[in-house]
Amino acid sequence: MDQQELTDNQIIEEFGRQLLVPGISEEGQNNLLKKHVLLIGLGALGTISSQYLVRAGIGSITLLDFDKVSLSNLHRQINYNKKDIDGYKSEISKQVLENINSVTKIIQHPLSFEEFLNRNNFENLDFIFDCSDSYQTKINSSLFAKTKSIAYSSISINSSEGIFLSQDHIKTDKTLCFKCLFPNIDETNHRCLNSAMIGPVAGFVASLACSKIILELAKNIPQMKNEILLIDLLTSDINKLQLKISNCKHTYE
Ligand SMILES: [Zn+2]
Repeated sequence: MDQQELTDNQIIEEFGRQLLVPGISEEGQNNLLKKHVLLIGLGALGTISSQYLVRAGIGSITLLDFDKVSLSNLHRQINYNKKDIDGYKSEISKQVLENINSVTKIIQHPLSFEEFLNRNNFENLDFIFDCSDSYQTKINSSLFAKTKSIAYSSISINSSEGIFLSQDHIKTDKTLCFKCLFPNIDETNHRCLNSAMIGPVAGFVASLACSKIILELAKNIPQMKNEILLIDLLTSDINKLQLKISNCKHTYE
């Protein structure tokens, strides 16, 4: 991307606390400034994630969501207020996020991932982060990322439970796609449109994912493994499943 490097004083003033994290420093902050993240879905998970990614100083973020804000969204989707009802989530999120810092370029499209793919090419994408509530979009985005060797994570929540899936984008012959991992889920039983939810569950899952993504992009060293974290906030259990064997034959078409 074409952002200029920040001066040392600008970096220290704006991101000083983040620079203290092992592995970030000025070099990591400048790495973040050069990264472009595609964020799919601006519901509870996506709005929280958008805030953390922009506040971390990611260089560019492209926001996708075709949906409009409704009253029932407001208890968990933190970019919106009552005045935003019936507005496009992507447009409102851009307005909110543009006021956070001077370094992040915000691009938005009120489109689904699939519609956007049909209209744009995906040059210069460093990370695809799926926060959608659509099983089909999760399959499509995970396969697209695998096929193009782009770093990828996907998060989902239902009631007190969360799933954080990450893919190794270097050794893609060992990478399972979403369809391999969850073959029996379909759109009708997966969408969280009507599922039970309290906002902080989304906050926890999104924060966990964003922490890993920010470190991955700052360190400039691919660290995402093929793994799933299963999070249950009622029991306080987090279980990690390492995905070692792959015979995925699916490709994005
Ligand atoms: Zn597969």
